[in-house]
Amino acid sequence: MKPLGPIPPGFTAVDGELAIAGRTASDLVAEAGQTPLFVYDAGLITARVEALRAALPERLGLHYAMKANPFAPVLRHMAGLVDGFDIASGGELVLAEAAGLDPAQISFAGPGKRDAELEVAITRGVTLNLESLREAERALAIGERLGRTPRLAIRVNPDFDLKGSGMKMGGGAKQFGIDAAQVPALAGRLIAAGCEWRGFHIYVGSQTLDAASIAETQAATIALAARLAEESGAALPACNLGGGFGIPYFPGDVPLDLAAVGQALADQMVALPAVLAETAFCVELGRYLVGEAGVYLTRIVDRKVSHGEVFLVTDGGLHHQLAASGNFGTVIRRNYPSAIANRFGAPVEEVASVVGCLCTPLDRLADKGGFPRADEGDLVAVFCAGAYGASASPVHFLGHGAAAEWLINTSH
Ligand SMILES: *Cc1c(COP(=O)(O)O)cnc(C)c1O
Repeated sequence: MKPLGPIPPGFTAVDGELAIAGRTASDLVAEAGQTPLFVYDAGLITARVEALRAALPERLGLHYAMKANPFAPVLRHMAGLVDGFDIASGGELVLAEAAGLDPAQISFAGPGKRDAELEVAITRGVTLNLESLREAERALAIGERLGRTPRLAIRVNPDFDLKGSGMKMGGGAKQFGIDAAQVPALAGRLIAAGCEWRGFHIYVGSQTLDAASIAETQAATIALAARLAEESGAALPACNLGGGFGIPYFPGDVPLDLAAVGQALADQMVALPAVLAETAFCVELGRYLVGEAGVYLTRIVDRKVSHGEVFLVTDGGLHHQLAASGNFGTVIRRNYPSAIANRFGAPVEEVASVVGCLCTPLDRLADKGGFPRADEGDLVAVFCAGAYGASASPVHFLGHGAAAEWLINTSH
């Protein structure tokens, strides 16, 4: 038997079933009228934002990186909770505007921004986090041509990375950001060209559970921002410190010590160098805000035994939950938290693998986990499905179609 990841807090058993926002899985599926189904609990998202606000210094803004979950109701819910949004494409800008988000609160990072994307972003007043020297020149030229003053920040590729991070996006040769050594001259050039100068964006990695690593990275980020601001000879209006706050997915993962991260940042904020005295700081988080609030529900279509091993074959799979199958940036496949939703909390009775309906052996949502006995028609819940699920999976692969999504907003 292989262990399953830890089930996030906030989910209860009602009448022997998994309940999400107080409603049983079978009730939710019946109302949605289909499986597979993603359910996102708005109350858990709100609670997470409140926990962050309580732990982090008041001066620090909170941004949502919408690539984690761009479902329109989630964006609308977030609009009332966070101070800004980070997008990574023109397509995400369309989604953001359709959800009614204020473009002035949006910043746009990501390599390979096309001219058409830069045009729309500049026209709408979105802040561009510039990823290369050429992109900076293209943004200035487009602003000139449109008669608009572009809001520009530089995404800095620092000389360090985030220790213990799942995906490194800074330090050394990278497609992200502009090498720190080139930043002061470029900042001077942008300011001289008359842009609206929005400072630095320094994002180095994702999915860290170690508070000490995050604190160390943030301290290094602040020191780097101060040095680059000094060298560019201008005050720094804003500095996005990145994020990287991780959530527990796998057996043995321990939640991030948010209080420790907050305390370290508070210590930084009271000891800022003069050049950063007026700087507006923020962090941008994706999975930490929404990941644990989502559950993927899928129905068992077939139960079969092969060479003595039990397979629970579901109507879902990696086309909705690529990450749970272990094929989204993980090196060693480990089990996400999962459960038989309509026998939630029942004792373990057998070892079974939960697989999807795709014709590939990669399509495994749980490998040799311990579960209560489950049969055709039962529901499987895969947790930690609120981020990088529906939007980060190959939904067209094998033609089964999309899962339904639902942001549920009842009380806790
Ligand atoms: C992906 C990404 C994020 C969000 O990452 P999480 O690990 O989900 O918090 C934030 N900022 C940038 C620039 C990103 O590329």
